[in-house]
Amino acid sequence: MEEPHIISPIKLLNEDNLRLDKRRLDEIRPIKLEVGVLSRADGSAYIEQGKSKILAAVYGPRELHPRHLAQPDEALLQCIYRMATFSVEERKSPAPSRRETELSKVITESLAPAVFLKYYPRASIDVYIQVIQADGGTRCSSITAASLALADAGIPLRDLVAACAAGKIDGKIALDLNDMEDKSGQADLPVAMMPRKNLITLIQMDGFMNKQEFVEAYELALKGCRKIYEMQREVLIQKYISIQEEFSEEENEQDNGG
Ligand code: UDP
Repeated sequence: MEEPHIISPIKLLNEDNLRLDKRRLDEIRPIKLEVGVLSRADGSAYIEQGKSKILAAVYGPRELHPRHLAQPDEALLQCIYRMATFSVEERKSPAPSRRETELSKVITESLAPAVFLKYYPRASIDVYIQVIQADGGTRCSSITAASLALADAGIPLRDLVAACAAGKIDGKIALDLNDMEDKSGQADLPVAMMPRKNLITLIQMDGFMNKQEFVEAYELALKGCRKIYEMQREVLIQKYISIQEEFSEEENEQDNGG
């Protein structure tokens, strides 16, 4: 099929190939990750990626209701992606949209290969993802946060899943599009992977790219995933270092008769 000639209404790149938020083409948005942010969940994580802000909460493995959904040989992983009514510019209806149902499925399928589901037959592992503020790329940020929340819950994983999109803006391949770039750009290619295993768990595409552009965008997205993976690992390592420090402080106090 002939590629339609789409000219974006807004200029997304300046003459130095810098983007509207001053990023280079191969730069991801600033990312902040936290784990263990919710005390009632078995595991939780928070991500800020640029202006997107997302919470993920994991409950389980736990008894599954309704029971007829139970699978005799493995756990059922259920991710539910929801956007707050105030998370987008134009108020979103609180009723689950078709898009939210689709993203819930896509996110579940991106994470399932990483979880040792066979360890928990008949059980349910529930992951609730709440988008508090959306600025593009929320499916990828949700996968990144949900995977961290699963690890925070102590659920055995083959690897963390890291996700990042690449796309095409003003005819150039760019990493981690924000909302404006997504809407005014020509293509978006979200990818999720298990970096240690080098396995892709999600690849979707929206828009138009030729084969060469696709390969370039795909490789750039993988680079983004690997960077995000390092950040995920770091936040988990920091969590266990602080637990270790707390324990040794307690032990010291006990040794000193405190
Ligand atoms: N969006 C919006 N209203 C909606 C749904 C989405 O303004 O009801 C925005 C939001 O910023 C989102 C972006 O559109 O991040 C891109 O949505 P898409 O469906 O491409 O998914 P995403 O890129 O977030 O994974």
